[in-house]
Amino acid sequence: MTNKSKQSINIPAEVLGLSDVEIESVTTDLRARQITIRVSSIKDEILCRECNQPTNPHGRGRLLRLRHLSILGKETTIEIIPRRGRCPHCDGGSTTTQRLDWYDTNSKFTRPYEQHLLFELINSTVADVSRKEDVDYHALEGLVDKYIEEECQSASNFDPQTASKIDPQKHIIMIIFFTVLASVFKAITFISSLNNRTMMSQSV
Ligand SMILES: [Zn+2]
Repeated sequence: MTNKSKQSINIPAEVLGLSDVEIESVTTDLRARQITIRVSSIKDEILCRECNQPTNPHGRGRLLRLRHLSILGKETTIEIIPRRGRCPHCDGGSTTTQRLDWYDTNSKFTRPYEQHLLFELINSTVADVSRKEDVDYHALEGLVDKYIEEECQSASNFDPQTASKIDPQKHIIMIIFFTVLASVFKAITFISSLNNRTMMSQSV
């Protein structure tokens, strides 16, 4: 007997917290405590990655599977096959894969789930959150690195027009703060991995 059923729950797209999509199908696998939601983009515009001008529709890319916030305690995955566009302006007709603002290229998680993981990391180790959320340890570590990098970038990239309003001393302090934060986090992660190894070798 199969435990999988199609369209057994009706979820409005807006409840997912993901913009510019409509839901194509919802698949539940209650035995595995998993829900898979296939969505498709309703955003027509795909801007060329070379010249930033609108492209013409050019098929679809590869299937992406992104972990999302759990629904009723079930591990939830969002599936999307991104649209692709071909540029009529660029030489060779360069192609661009559409990316919606709730995920990053090469990410394994949706942005709302990334925020949830970062929140869970407060007062917890990467190993703890990895176990509790059943998320790959290295993917979680990669997420923290990406987040720190983004924070450092937003601290170091400022608009030259408003630069005069920013205190340069404050700006340098922010960069130092985020660099120190990154180092402290790496040290904590290293120490907790050593502790885990020690605990494992004691329990053997
Ligand atoms: Zn172009």
